[in-house]
Amino acid sequence: MKHAFVLAAACAAVIGCAGSSGAPPSTSDAKTFLGTVNDTMKRLGIEQGRAGWVQQTFITADTEAIAAHANQEFIDATARFAKESTKFDKVAVPADERRQLNLLKLSLTMVTPANPKESDELTKIMARLESAYGKGKWCPEPSKPDACKTIDDVTKIMAASRNEKELRAAWEGWHTISPPMKQDYARFVELSNKGAKELGFADTGAMWRAKYDMPPDDFTKELDRLWDQVRPLYLKLHAYTRLKLREKYGDLVPANGPIPAHLLGNIWAQDWSNIYPFAAPPHADPGYSLTDILKKRNMPPLDMVRTGERFYSSLGFAALPNTFWERSLFVRPRDRDVVCHASAWDVDLEEDLRIKMCIEQTAEDFTTIHHELGHNYYQRAFRGQPVLFRDSANDGFHEAVGDTIALSVTPDYLVKIGLLDKAPDASRDIGLLMTKALEKIAFLPFGLVIDQWRWKVFAGEVPPAAYNKAWWDLRLKYQGVAPPSARGEEFFDPGAKYHVPDNTPYTRYFLAAILQFQFHRALSKTAGCTLPLNRCSIYESKPAGERLNAMLSMGLSRPWPEALEALTGAKQMDATAILDYFAPLSKWLDAQLAGKQVGW
Ligand SMILES: [Zn+2]
Repeated sequence: MKHAFVLAAACAAVIGCAGSSGAPPSTSDAKTFLGTVNDTMKRLGIEQGRAGWVQQTFITADTEAIAAHANQEFIDATARFAKESTKFDKVAVPADERRQLNLLKLSLTMVTPANPKESDELTKIMARLESAYGKGKWCPEPSKPDACKTIDDVTKIMAASRNEKELRAAWEGWHTISPPMKQDYARFVELSNKGAKELGFADTGAMWRAKYDMPPDDFTKELDRLWDQVRPLYLKLHAYTRLKLREKYGDLVPANGPIPAHLLGNIWAQDWSNIYPFAAPPHADPGYSLTDILKKRNMPPLDMVRTGERFYSSLGFAALPNTFWERSLFVRPRDRDVVCHASAWDVDLEEDLRIKMCIEQTAEDFTTIHHELGHNYYQRAFRGQPVLFRDSANDGFHEAVGDTIALSVTPDYLVKIGLLDKAPDASRDIGLLMTKALEKIAFLPFGLVIDQWRWKVFAGEVPPAAYNKAWWDLRLKYQGVAPPSARGEEFFDPGAKYHVPDNTPYTRYFLAAILQFQFHRALSKTAGCTLPLNRCSIYESKPAGERLNAMLSMGLSRPWPEALEALTGAKQMDATAILDYFAPLSKWLDAQLAGKQVGW
């Protein structure tokens, strides 16, 4: 579960907010203040967690109202405390208290301006943008509203259709939802920048980049460095996929140019797994399907979760509390509406861990269980920290942990736990690696594009009159994809991706994609695995569990490079672990691409 933060700035300059009445604040005042903040945020966080849980597992008008109220209380308190914290900016306080005061100011994704009229306008714009996306539908026949298609329908078409005309229609159709958002988005940029400036940041993008324990410009350079490490592998995957799509779609796919964005199996071309049948290497079928095994054994969802728990227990983590089994939601209830999107919760911020999933007997859900439990074990590991430190080391870490464990769900692991009789031999690895590459390598440039675009927009480098051009310039530069038809400024294509109208920072997903392989490599080494990295599983390794726990238990208490070091021994993010993991596939791609052009 994640909290959304909004802050209303109350004064023109951060330092100017210092208390104007009586004696200047003292070191002990700061300590008292942080005590109050931690107590209050814990209390309100628990109320928010309970209300949110009930709302998402029993959706009614009443539970929605109760949850909205609890959210507002939490946000208002955060806003109040963040403003108040600025009065300690010049007070000498111990380092960990200074860190808590800073984090309070940085926990925000949007700052409303001090002017009440503008603040109100911005809040309304945000609500409008969110619902414009939520209600967004493609209506192929306006006279038949019942035939309108939601994002779920569009997702299915993009995944399953092999008909270019149908794919193009669905792609263009979904992108009709966003032009009406453009004006609101431009105004949102103006107003949220004003709020960020009032807090002392250059703009909203600079405020987001300030959350990474380094100067914002250094963080940008870090991202460039990481992307340069993995770009050659992406280029190879891109070239090979282009070759295979050309065999299917002919000249619609240029031999040496960008891939049309509607042919990659996903409306945003961010995950290419759905076109695996085109890219499948010959003779690399792993010879088993975990989904089939789960179905054949009719494995109950609860047993699937127990299997996930056993993985973490094998690393030395304590068993999940009884309340986890009593209070979690594992299957879709028959009698009421619930939010089935998988999530992990820590309702009392101590021990009341839960997952909320509508588990099906599929390999995907089996992996997702391991992923969600990763959040739960993280939450429990950092519970000894002050409330302001009860979060992951940076926003990429939380998602990376569960995915790290999921990388250990190898064929050999499935044999060990009795789900598979015999692991396929190494010659079949190329198929498994290709499946993973179409998901994880294909995603990397997309994980960068969204915020590269938004940072330029927030900084004023890209004015509203060039929104769409800048968007497609970046998608071409990073992803090597092109729109299926001309996209002028009458469109607003970034708005067709949830995280833009919803204003959720996106770089975290890029970081998580990099970090999970770095974690996997370090833990595999600790576990003594000498196999190729893609065959390593840390199952049953207590030393790996100790290393993992050393990082998890730090929470947000130290700058993330120190948390990274606790697990990996290095302070720098390093994408070469991805290259190690995919080394056999990379070599195989080289052979397929001999004499062919790579890039666009
Ligand atoms: Zn997650």
